[in-house]
Amino acid sequence: MNTLRSVLGLACVAVWTVFGAAQAPARAGGVLYRVSFPAPEHHYAQVEVTFPDVPPGALEARMSRSSPGRYALHEFSKNVFDLEAFDGKGRKLALDRPSPYQWNVSGHDGTVRIVYKVYGDHVDGTYLAIDTTHAHMNIPATLMWARGFEPRAARITFVPPPSLGWTPATQLFPTDDAWTFTAPNMQYLMDSPTELSAQTVRSFKVRNPDGKELTIRAAVHHDATEAAIDEYVAGAEKIVREQGAVFGEFPEFDTGTYTFLGDYVPWGGGDGMEHRNSTVVASPVSLRGEGAVLDVLDTVSHEFFHAWNVERIRPASLEPFNFEEANISGELWLAEGFTQYYGTLTMVRTGLSSIPEAIGSFSRTANAVTNGNGRRFRSAVDMSRMAAFTDAARSVDRTNTANTFISYYTHGAAIALGLDLSLRDRSNGKTSLDDYMRALWRAHGKPGGPQPGLVARPYTLKDARDRLAEVAGDRAFADSFFDKFIEGQEAVDYRPLLARAGYLWRKTNPGAAWLGTAAFDRGGAGTIANLVEWGSPLHAAGLNQGDTILELDGRPAASGSALQAVLKAHKPGDRIAVAFRRRNGATGTATIVLAENPSMEAVAIESTAGTLTSEQKQFRASWLGSRLPAR
Ligand SMILES: [Zn+2]
Repeated sequence: MNTLRSVLGLACVAVWTVFGAAQAPARAGGVLYRVSFPAPEHHYAQVEVTFPDVPPGALEARMSRSSPGRYALHEFSKNVFDLEAFDGKGRKLALDRPSPYQWNVSGHDGTVRIVYKVYGDHVDGTYLAIDTTHAHMNIPATLMWARGFEPRAARITFVPPPSLGWTPATQLFPTDDAWTFTAPNMQYLMDSPTELSAQTVRSFKVRNPDGKELTIRAAVHHDATEAAIDEYVAGAEKIVREQGAVFGEFPEFDTGTYTFLGDYVPWGGGDGMEHRNSTVVASPVSLRGEGAVLDVLDTVSHEFFHAWNVERIRPASLEPFNFEEANISGELWLAEGFTQYYGTLTMVRTGLSSIPEAIGSFSRTANAVTNGNGRRFRSAVDMSRMAAFTDAARSVDRTNTANTFISYYTHGAAIALGLDLSLRDRSNGKTSLDDYMRALWRAHGKPGGPQPGLVARPYTLKDARDRLAEVAGDRAFADSFFDKFIEGQEAVDYRPLLARAGYLWRKTNPGAAWLGTAAFDRGGAGTIANLVEWGSPLHAAGLNQGDTILELDGRPAASGSALQAVLKAHKPGDRIAVAFRRRNGATGTATIVLAENPSMEAVAIESTAGTLTSEQKQFRASWLGSRLPAR
């Protein structure tokens, strides 16, 4: 750990020199933060922020409304209290509130110091959580900033509570003082979650083809044994190396180090949130539990892939990130969905999960999109643009997104599966999605940016299409794939593609009668609790959420098992009578025309009467096997 600190110190000095020289004439004084925790048991931080060289006029200080990697609004200003502002001589300044997120400070002398408390008791990748075991800080939820100061550097000193044994972990740039860090600009500062706790820190090195060595660090706040942390770090290392093999190299992390900020305590929360040189990976579990380490590595796998895909291979729609509004992107099917696919693929390639587990996951994903009603109304691009309403968003009113939306995680992962198999199919295994990711990396990620935190060549939807045309060597294929499955509303036909790997894509319950999903309320017997699938037999008969089924096929059907018994007695195409009552008490009858259960699944050919051919075996191995050279 000592050697690590000195390496980071050197990297830091180099970066400051470069930016100091490049921007010296225009660069005004950096923003200074001091963050302390006078009473962690009351879950708040005491923050002092000093803005120097403030231009004449009111300073517009703001709390963020959004956070990188999150697409809904989170309104962090709601937790700010006890706020005061002072000038450089310590005189109290007048405050105005032009909006719920902004404090205007006027009458200053070129320096404004704002002092406030901010409450936080929610462990995840978005919010702030302070208790006597840690300060788990997402920076937009914690630190105020000011309009016009975005290009300025920041210097942050954390003051831990005495005698709790906390240490800091963050992607912020270290300084000679262990508790003081810097950020070259506001984008980088906001992107740098910080964990202060009595955490276990482990690290290992990876080397790029150009010889450059990078440090991967795991800082884990946990209540488990050292052996559990050994297992966790060993798993993370397998994931890191396997994903490095997809791209052929690691990103040059801005401080030379990438940090997993692991938070695994039963009193915590669950999440994974990507950042440029770190990720928050949290789960409300103890790693002492049987199988717990393997369970949490899934998120580790997803998040590390983001170090390339979204942090550096970045949609132009998210660059730079807007902290004042919800951010809209039509590319989350690629940024999140492809990452989801690679998260699963990496787990099986490393052997951390089994082939049946991976195929089960791909199968559920492909089924969700094949049968997803959202495609009736939206393309994968449109789904992505819904993120502000679906990504950890809350609404008071009921929505019908179950019928009009498919998560871009699921939708994008299903597209990735279809594209990976299509590329392998048409090239006889010579080209794969790995090549597409590498092409995106070379064109859009590797060129880097003018400063840490900024991406110089983010991609547009057209760029993503053009890279596919290049990788496939076939413009017509790329256009057709994008037109149908990404900008259009069709689903990939998985049957011939999965067959290449020796999997049958077939009906899960062939010949079974189906009317849609009717999950019954526990309180009211026969009352439909869920939004009924658009176009399903129940939906076509005019039944939906809140309606009560009184009789089905002349029998009472107030429970799931009674309903199943009716379906078992029929076949697709049969017409059955339903008697129902609306919420307002009105009753009625209708005819339901039963359909075949549309659910699909992938089944290994060798588990049926079929035989796995050597070509299929080879196709499967090159798809699901490790890309690392055998050691
Ligand atoms: Zn993600």
